[in-house]
Amino acid sequence: MKNGSCPKCGSSEVYAGTEVFPKSGPFTCNAIPVSLTAMAPLDNYVCTACGYVESYISQEEDIDRIRQKWPPVQPSNESTAQDEDE
Ligand SMILES: [Zn+2]
Repeated sequence: MKNGSCPKCGSSEVYAGTEVFPKSGPFTCNAIPVSLTAMAPLDNYVCTACGYVESYISQEEDIDRIRQKWPPVQPSNESTAQDEDE
């Protein structure tokens, strides 16, 4: 999506909301809660052909905070039996 093409419909009608102000605050929800005291502002990319929205955390320090605060999701292979390879 950041390269200007929509992953859903293939259109190049992609617009970036990276300079929208305010990105976060009491009257907007354009942020995700990271912890009790921290919000991470988001950059939104919108495809105006199909309406698809993709969001990215805009600040590297928020990503670091998530690495420390959030549990990682373990990759899973539902369709293959991992034990058979041993
Ligand atoms: Zn699209």
